[in-house]
Amino acid sequence: MPSDHAAESRRMTAAHLPSIDHLLRHAACEPFLQRYGRVATLETLRGLLDELRGPAQQGELTHAELAEPVLLGRAGERLAAQHRSRVRRVFNLTGTVLHTNLGRALLAEEAIGAMTLAARHPLNLEFDLATGKRGDRDDLITGLIRELTGAEAVTVVNNNAAAVLLALNSLGARKEGIISRGELIEIGGAFRIPDIMARAGVKLVEVGTTNRTHAKDYEAVIGPRSGLLMRVHTSNYSVQGFTASVPTAELARIADAHALPLLEDLGSGSLVDLTRWGLPKEPTVQDALRDGADIVTFSGDKLLGGPQAGIIVGHKDLIARIKKNPLKRALRVDKVTLAALEATLSLYRDPDRLGERLTSLRLLSRPQVDILAQAQRIAPLMAEQLGEHWRVDALPALGMIGSGTQPVARLPSAALCMRPEVSRRWRGRALRQLEEALRCLDTPVIGRIDDDALWLDLRQLDDEPAFLAGLATLSVGALAP
Ligand SMILES: *Cc1c(COP(=O)(O)O)cnc(C)c1O
Repeated sequence: MPSDHAAESRRMTAAHLPSIDHLLRHAACEPFLQRYGRVATLETLRGLLDELRGPAQQGELTHAELAEPVLLGRAGERLAAQHRSRVRRVFNLTGTVLHTNLGRALLAEEAIGAMTLAARHPLNLEFDLATGKRGDRDDLITGLIRELTGAEAVTVVNNNAAAVLLALNSLGARKEGIISRGELIEIGGAFRIPDIMARAGVKLVEVGTTNRTHAKDYEAVIGPRSGLLMRVHTSNYSVQGFTASVPTAELARIADAHALPLLEDLGSGSLVDLTRWGLPKEPTVQDALRDGADIVTFSGDKLLGGPQAGIIVGHKDLIARIKKNPLKRALRVDKVTLAALEATLSLYRDPDRLGERLTSLRLLSRPQVDILAQAQRIAPLMAEQLGEHWRVDALPALGMIGSGTQPVARLPSAALCMRPEVSRRWRGRALRQLEEALRCLDTPVIGRIDDDALWLDLRQLDDEPAFLAGLATLSVGALAP
């Protein structure tokens, strides 16, 4: 009788908790020892047995719950969870290509190869192979960046925020930095121009207004304490309507007339005219230099399509001052980054093939018809997997470049649109359930919820087989009616 059986089970006592030795010798434990090692396996088993000892003594556990294969199964799950890498690959189907929270640019194969090489072998990081003398790590990429941008001199640091901090501190410490009120940006992650200026020891002097700043506004404040003029490419937002700003060329003339350096923070900064690939026009580093900016800073992992880095180009005297700043040592890039940067930049020597070889550019310029065809291919599979309470459509969608680049521009794309067909009051919960189920897949899928639907923008879905394999394991659970 079931109740007798339960009573019998409850009489199990601590004596029935298997010993650690027994568990360790069990055949099912062997794979854990192989994979995770003796220390971790032992610790996990011990933890598990410690937790079960009390309940087992109270007779709260059944025989079946204390069976060795069952305990080892639980230990195996714990070990796997503990040993799963915290760095996980995900599918970025948010529609934002250079997504800062999802790692920004995907690197070209050439760059990945160069990173592996740099990681695996000794290299001439700071060693001049021609003379056998000590070298400068910047020299590894200086020639290439000069060739591509026309700059006199170059230095590279950890990211563009570091580049801005270093340039400001090197050229404007204890002096005034003059900047338009319309360019006092915050780009998220606590990077705010006024704060960076303060940390760099530069006294901020704001000129003009939020929407309009004129040449005479700069001229009016230039004086003996002025250290530099700064121009920041407005990221993440756009001011439209009754606006005016002073173009780089004109600002450069003002800076020159007063023998002050002009710093231009381009943010993303491209090295090529992106309109060639149907993308919005973005100011290039070459343009900024040609227009007379003395120092230009930009990111490695935004439109450039390379590793995280901050690149500083410009006048050789100013770059020399920047390189002498002790902060440069604190902000320097590592060998793996340099290797990836060189390989990425090398691709720019052949602009005709850049669109195929530079992964981020290939994804950014992927034609909408391709993406829509892919969405139409996958939609029926998704519909089948989700079952009756969901409507799945392949629809045109609008994506974004991301990383504050061209905040208003939209990339014509296509998406799977999943709409819960449940009563209005359950819709939010259904969407959150699906969002979570996708996020918890072996390879998490990150989409976005908008307009009572969950959207997966497929622009970045390169590895369709892996996505479909994950989809086959998706389970959203029961939806309320
Ligand atoms: C992105 C950005 C930065 C910061 O660059 P990171 O490479 O993220 O450090 C600075 N300024 C502007 C204008 C930007 O767009």
